[in-house]
Amino acid sequence: MAFPGKTVSRLTVAGLLVVSSGLAEVRFEVRHEHLRKGCRGVMVVDQNGITFHGAKKHSWSWRYQDIQELKLGPGSLHLLSYRDRRLHAGADQAYDFTGAIPSGLYTFWRDRLDQRFVAEVADGAVRPLWEIPVKHLGRITGTEGILKIGEDRIVYATPQKNDSRTWRFQDIDHISNSGPFRLTIATLEETFNFQLKQVLPESKYNDLWLSINQNNGRIP
Ligand SMILES: [Zn+2]
Repeated sequence: MAFPGKTVSRLTVAGLLVVSSGLAEVRFEVRHEHLRKGCRGVMVVDQNGITFHGAKKHSWSWRYQDIQELKLGPGSLHLLSYRDRRLHAGADQAYDFTGAIPSGLYTFWRDRLDQRFVAEVADGAVRPLWEIPVKHLGRITGTEGILKIGEDRIVYATPQKNDSRTWRFQDIDHISNSGPFRLTIATLEETFNFQLKQVLPESKYNDLWLSINQNNGRIP
């Protein structure tokens, strides 16, 4: 499909990224973060993968299958490849981008990618069946927010930058609770421990546990 670059950019700004059959790609400017400073370039996203054209040798193309983790946050994109880092034994090459990343990319990737996609954003479209105020316990400090339980996803919404999440049920490896004021959500990315500010009734927890496991095909 031949979209002149400028047209695509304007479509993106208007938030018209996701068109079921039509739009071939979306392109936008981002900054590739270096250890010091960075370079500016153009990112192109389509249904096959992601391409970045930056300064000098900073141009890459990744198919989705070659991306170990793709983390989309507010104004940030973290991409972990499977490529070994030269000079750093055992570490895989990661790439960080910042800038005005089109918000439509969240739904585009949510509907296409597997558990390796991490949504560091709160899905505003979720219609919660119930919600509960919580504290996400970090290693040293935590963040406070609300867990919203939807029919097929859980949203953790917090004003704290980069700590919101949206998990589709298939992103959830398992949930567990060790008492009425605790809830643990384990995902491929990490295990999230929540301290609950209200009692979580056992029936609600059991319903959620069942929905997730049924959705993931572990129980009929
Ligand atoms: Zn660069």
